[in-house]
Amino acid sequence: MYKIMTPGPTQVRENVRMARSLVCTNPDLDPGFFDYYKETCELISELLHTENEALILGGEGILGLEAACASLTEPGDKVLVIDNGVFGKGFADFVTMYGGEVTYYTASYTREIDMAAFSDFLKEHHDFKYATMVHCDTPSGVLNPVEEMCQELHRYGILTVVDAVSSMFGEPLMVDYGEIDIACGGSQKALSAPPGLTFLTVSEAAKKVMEKRRIPIASFYANLLVFKDYYEKQWFPYTMPISDIYGLRTALENAKADKNRLVRHARLGELTRKRVQEMGFELYLESGYCNTVTVVKVPEGMTAEQILDAMRNEHHIMIAGSFDVMAGHVIRIGHMGENANEADVAETLDALEAVVRKYR
Ligand SMILES: *Cc1c(COP(=O)(O)O)cnc(C)c1O
Repeated sequence: MYKIMTPGPTQVRENVRMARSLVCTNPDLDPGFFDYYKETCELISELLHTENEALILGGEGILGLEAACASLTEPGDKVLVIDNGVFGKGFADFVTMYGGEVTYYTASYTREIDMAAFSDFLKEHHDFKYATMVHCDTPSGVLNPVEEMCQELHRYGILTVVDAVSSMFGEPLMVDYGEIDIACGGSQKALSAPPGLTFLTVSEAAKKVMEKRRIPIASFYANLLVFKDYYEKQWFPYTMPISDIYGLRTALENAKADKNRLVRHARLGELTRKRVQEMGFELYLESGYCNTVTVVKVPEGMTAEQILDAMRNEHHIMIAGSFDVMAGHVIRIGHMGENANEADVAETLDALEAVVRKYR
């Protein structure tokens, strides 16, 4: 058994695991389960500071991103894809898959989006139906100022889609204040439930755009409109994964009860960045550090694989490499959700220090 200190999936607390073992009712037929689902969605909205309706979908975080794009995109729609990271760029795949025309706003992968430059770009280019962006782009750990970005996009009437899968519940995220039309989350990052669920908050403006489409949404599973009036009709579009939702609810209640959560993430993020630099690592980012994950460059004379293997085999701790353009160049420590506790972070950093000393 390894201690997982990866940037998702994260450690799962015992009460979440226990909740997933509760006796199940028939979630398609039991009126009590419709109340339970709706109350769980309302808790998500509350924790994300929004009046927007939340929906929980059976499927991983990626399904949430695809559902947002599938539901908004009509063939020929112009979409702005904000690309300063692997997930940021990746949104373009979903947009084009559903017939949208992508314009990239590409910026450095080693810092957060600069608001002045972004505002200048929008002055010249703002003929878009919606824009996609990532709050914490996990492969690099960059944290973008999505609230300001979305407010600025709204000035031009552009709808906003934010992937906050690896930031929400570990970094502040104010969906209504930030004018985020669709915010996407996942169960297995800072919320610390096992993988399996995605959830989205959807604004009335986004719903209206979906309802007024000329061409129907080219998906069933990724169609957010199929949830319309599910509570009034007491009908889910497909059978809800009830045990996953029991676990998610408990994880949300854990998050709500943990008043110190964001402060702790900030403290441990800072501590981790300080310690890795003291041991001689260089941070991948120049600025825009997210407090849920720390990304460092692989030092000269070592490989990412060596470090990860030694952490696993000699210290029984799993940290992560990265992928796409970052593969092999960096390693990542996930200090989010249940991972974000003093003891585990200290143990991980001590182990990493021992590994580095051995290879020097
Ligand atoms: C983890 C993550 C997702 C979801 O990816 P999965 O492969 O489904 O885990 C989406 N966006 C970001 C930024 C993530 O970190």
